[in-house]
Amino acid sequence: MDCPRCSVEMQEITQEDSTLQRCAECGGIWVVDVADLNKMLLHANLPALSTIGGFINADEISGMCPACNVDLVVVEGGEKRSLAYDTCESCGGLWVDGEEEAPAAELDWKGANKQIVDFFKRFAKKK
Ligand SMILES: [Zn+2]
Ligand SMILES: [Zn+2]
Repeated sequence: MDCPRCSVEMQEITQEDSTLQRCAECGGIWVVDVADLNKMLLHANLPALSTIGGFINADEISGMCPACNVDLVVVEGGEKRSLAYDTCESCGGLWVDGEEEAPAAELDWKGANKQIVDFFKRFAKKK
């Protein structure tokens, strides 16, 4: 699977039957299955993704789904809609951008989990 931003092959991060894909180039993470994301959110005492909500920005051009090759949809949220993730309406996959200038070459499940949860903690803030 290629990164929707950089078009380089992503690394697989697995735990039990869950899989994430991460790009070492930009530090972004592709969540293959939204059920895995919801498990992470619930563990962190956050609501499920469908409850967190957000605003679809149809004008924003985004990348392509690495699984289906259809355009991703940009969903904005957080304080003054300052944050955004991308999602595929076809497979339900979801992309969270990396925020570090020099992302680590490798990341384990725990690190990836933390990156995603930290993002959605800020994303869930409404004001
Ligand atoms: Zn990338
Ligand atoms: Zn897709």
